[in-house]
Amino acid sequence: MRIEEKIKVLERVALQLEPDQIQRSELRDQVIDYTEEFLENINENKAFIQTDHKGKAIYDHPISEEPQPLNELINIFKENVEKTGLNPASGGHLAYIPGGGLYPSSLGDYIADITNRYAGVFYPSPGAVRMENMLINWMRDEIGYPDTAAGNLTSGGSIANLIGIVTARDAFNLQSKNFHKVVIYLTEQVHHSVMKSIRIAGLYNAQIRHVPMDDHFRMDVDHLEELIKTDEEHGLQPWLIIASAGTTDTGAVDPIDKIADIKDEHNLWLHVDGAYGGFFILCDEGKKIIKGLDRTDSIVMDPHKGLFLPYGTGIVLIKDRKLLFQSHYYKANYLQDAEKFDEELSPADLSPELTKHYRGLRMWLPLKLFGLKPFRAGLEEKIWLARYFYEEIQKIEGFEVGSYPDLSVVTYRFMPKDGKPNEFNQKLLDLILEDGRVFLSSTMIGDKFYLRLAVLCFRSHKEIVDLALEVLKEKSKILVERD
Ligand SMILES: *Cc1c(COP(=O)(O)O)cnc(C)c1O
Repeated sequence: MRIEEKIKVLERVALQLEPDQIQRSELRDQVIDYTEEFLENINENKAFIQTDHKGKAIYDHPISEEPQPLNELINIFKENVEKTGLNPASGGHLAYIPGGGLYPSSLGDYIADITNRYAGVFYPSPGAVRMENMLINWMRDEIGYPDTAAGNLTSGGSIANLIGIVTARDAFNLQSKNFHKVVIYLTEQVHHSVMKSIRIAGLYNAQIRHVPMDDHFRMDVDHLEELIKTDEEHGLQPWLIIASAGTTDTGAVDPIDKIADIKDEHNLWLHVDGAYGGFFILCDEGKKIIKGLDRTDSIVMDPHKGLFLPYGTGIVLIKDRKLLFQSHYYKANYLQDAEKFDEELSPADLSPELTKHYRGLRMWLPLKLFGLKPFRAGLEEKIWLARYFYEEIQKIEGFEVGSYPDLSVVTYRFMPKDGKPNEFNQKLLDLILEDGRVFLSSTMIGDKFYLRLAVLCFRSHKEIVDLALEVLKEKSKILVERD
């Protein structure tokens, strides 16, 4: 076969990758029919579905040479993905740190995927990069960082923490032979992704000081200062304080303003993990609780939590953009054309990623389409819903609460008249999950098993919190009567 004929044969098959207008419209209609049905039923459907199969039938449909119609594929998804486990799009998701899934974000992703703009480097896609930088600048202004700050839209809080810690490491010019003398200060409530980042950054030999906490699980600044002074006296190198703006476990906000005083005095780097709570600064109640973010060196926030976006978007902000650039820039010969333009910072020079999903659009579209007001209201509503739950759960016989919520996480447990409380509350949680109307989770505080309520999904309103209270009342009663 001549080359031309060969190419023609291949092209005929390869062209199947490009549906025509009519086919596109048919495909789109099926997807829209499915997603509309999903959204229309979201309040009636369970937040959590326990199944024995756990989506196993996915393996019964292996990737094969031949095509399969979309309606069959949607059914495979429905049965094996949608209808098993947690529905994180549900307002009844009141566990861990809930996610979001704003509708216009899906449309932003749709446009981003079809146009497939390359959002990593300014030269090929100046507009997409400017959009990302504009979003970063908006966050920078909200937290009160100077315009010498820069940041990156990451896949989530974990990578954002990693970028912050690596930048802090290089900012202090830490050398691996000295890592064992370097000291990091954090509390036991710090998110595990922070510990993971420290390890990935090569700092597993560093000294970790667990700063004691007050009875609200916030970092105790007096202890922090004592620890730093002792380490200095012993010839160690205090380097990094990692504070939380909303711990995952109890929602505690460390006293960032006071911690910043100490970091200034001792010349340390202050990194704040605000993956859960950072966006609460968009509302007045949140601003009263989270103070001093402008005095930190780096901050992590998760738009896929506090800005209600679908999973896959985090943010890191670094006050001194030179340092972020220095840690993540790399020159490649094949990209030499791209270096002629330095009007804007390129995301690829500010993170480990080169090519990445055009994340800006899924954030920009809902922010612009809705305006900021409903975001601020939604966040403040979540704080008040947690406070409401905190009051109401105490009115149900047998329940006691943990500390007053700083943000939107409440801890509580049932105290049975006889029997062990830990076992009782585990059984209570099992019954709630079996029921599935709301999805709650638990944690250990010391050796005590506590139930958690975390309100952050944009679909969680008072009706859902009332439902959670009703389910807790109903199930605890069943358990008391059964035992
Ligand atoms: C969720 C969370 C993280 C991790 O972020 P991912 O987006 O899940 O990678 C880090 N810190 C805190 C406080 C979190 O709540």
